[in-house]
Amino acid sequence: MSDADRAYALDRKHVFHSWSAQELIDPIVITKADGPYLWDRYGNKLLDFTSQLVYTNLGHQHPRIVAAIARQAATLCTIAPAHVNGARSEAARLIAERTPGDLDHIFFTNGGADANEHAVRMARLHTGRHKVLSAYRSYHGGTQLAVNLTGDPRRWPNDNGSQGTVHFFGPFLYRSPFSATTEAEECERALGHLEQVIALEGPATIAAVLLESIPGTAGILVPPPGYLRGVRALCDQHGIVFIADEVMAGFGRAGKWFAVEHGGVVPDLLTFAKGVNSGYVPLGGVAINDAIYSTFARTPYPGGLTYSGHPLACAAAVATIETMEDDHIVERAAHLGDTVFGPRLRALADRHAWIGDVRGTGVFWALDLVHDRRTREPLAATGPELTALHAACLRHGLLPFTTANRLHLVPPLTIAAAEAHHGLDLLDQALSDVLDQPTAKA
Ligand code: PLP
Repeated sequence: MSDADRAYALDRKHVFHSWSAQELIDPIVITKADGPYLWDRYGNKLLDFTSQLVYTNLGHQHPRIVAAIARQAATLCTIAPAHVNGARSEAARLIAERTPGDLDHIFFTNGGADANEHAVRMARLHTGRHKVLSAYRSYHGGTQLAVNLTGDPRRWPNDNGSQGTVHFFGPFLYRSPFSATTEAEECERALGHLEQVIALEGPATIAAVLLESIPGTAGILVPPPGYLRGVRALCDQHGIVFIADEVMAGFGRAGKWFAVEHGGVVPDLLTFAKGVNSGYVPLGGVAINDAIYSTFARTPYPGGLTYSGHPLACAAAVATIETMEDDHIVERAAHLGDTVFGPRLRALADRHAWIGDVRGTGVFWALDLVHDRRTREPLAATGPELTALHAACLRHGLLPFTTANRLHLVPPLTIAAAEAHHGLDLLDQALSDVLDQPTAKA
């Protein structure tokens, strides 16, 4: 038995996988990875259009990050959060210098869910209020509070710990909950709706509004101009803490250091993970503004983690951020969106009747797949079309990110323009193989 076959057999026997019916999955064994490419156990080369779970922003095995982790491991693998560590201090400085406004204090966590948990805890203690408003179309993590703040259906089996969580509709023009027909209308109505939810829940009970700056897993829902500014104004009016969840959209993915910059606002707390160090070692965190920091300046913050600011993870963050700066990765991501992904995906939509909507910015794109463009009826999440499309992409050498009725196109930000074009050619072929059947309606 080869090493790869042994890994597969042991996985199936002993590894319990996230979000899965354990006996209904057939995971791919990855034996090698380099830049935007992966190899499976049969030697097939796959172009990674997923960045795994949208986190390998600098691609696989980036030499600067690997070397930084190795250097840190040789020097000091680990040290408790109570001690000062050079990698942690430097990572905090680099993050604080890039987050907008006065988000200058960094609390490190192990990932995105616990970053959101801590942000909510800080907001509750800072305001003395308990409710948190978040969007139905959202994902904020898998831990108990984070999954209750999440809007997507993964909350349903877990929503027995939902005390103080309230959901509202964010803007989503293509499937407008407000029957809007223009971006401006959607923005105005979504803000009017949020204003009513705040009024009816009681502003004095609301600690925070938690929002993904661009909801990612829910469909890459770029908010209309003015929406985030409107949320900021409502929060200011009622003394509510505005938490921006930048776990997926942050660190260049959306063509800015942080996606909230597209909206021109500064949140009170900003949560991050994934792209902060390309996910090479688990790391997340909360960037805290001066006002909330002050609440805990002379009173202890009642929270912490054994691995808060782990030196290996922080060394990876320092190398990631320095590389992003030196190689102009954020500007590259914006340029790839403007010159490759946007135009190419819109051209694909002209040819394939099943593409109902193209959304995105930077290297953060979604295709909304529908049976019928007129009714916008979505393709079934685990239906035959999407299953076949996923298989066709793999056959053509492309690892796709499929979720609900959508394909998300989210390769590493370091992908060369030619490689991005090649991946989109593969996607074009896969769509032609599977979806352009006679039943497709224009
Ligand atoms: N927030 C957002 C926007 C996410 O996309 C995710 C993960 O996909 C999380 C939070 C949770 O992060 P983690 O899986 O690191 O806990």
